[in-house]
Amino acid sequence: MTLSASAPLRRPEPKITPLSAPFWEMANDRTLATPLCNACGQRHFPPGPVCPECLSTDLGWSPVSGRARLVSWVVFHQVYWEDVREDVPYLVATVDLEEGVRLITNLAGAAAEAPVHGMALTVTFVENMSGQLLPVFEAA
Ligand SMILES: [Zn+2]
Repeated sequence: MTLSASAPLRRPEPKITPLSAPFWEMANDRTLATPLCNACGQRHFPPGPVCPECLSTDLGWSPVSGRARLVSWVVFHQVYWEDVREDVPYLVATVDLEEGVRLITNLAGAAAEAPVHGMALTVTFVENMSGQLLPVFEAA
């Protein structure tokens, strides 16, 4: 269940759209970023065509610290995608970024072995089978 930085992560390929492309491009530079509204200053995720706070379309992207807290997690024992068959059981987590944005992600290392509600996490990046870097979180 522990993710390894030395082996590519088997996961379904991300569905990269014009709205989400900056997220994946910055991930490939080992930068975690979220949309940031230029009108009201609110961050949000996932990316959308308008700010969910003020409905402005004046949106940009801005890096975040990568620091987060573990909110919740679930361990998948069912093989929903053939790509993950060898990784079952695997953990999917909800984390709150320090900047107030919630992400669905995976945990790596000791955080995946012994997750604790509220534990401090920091982002790291693992490569998938196509070379795309995916943000995951490990114990801070
Ligand atoms: Zn806004």
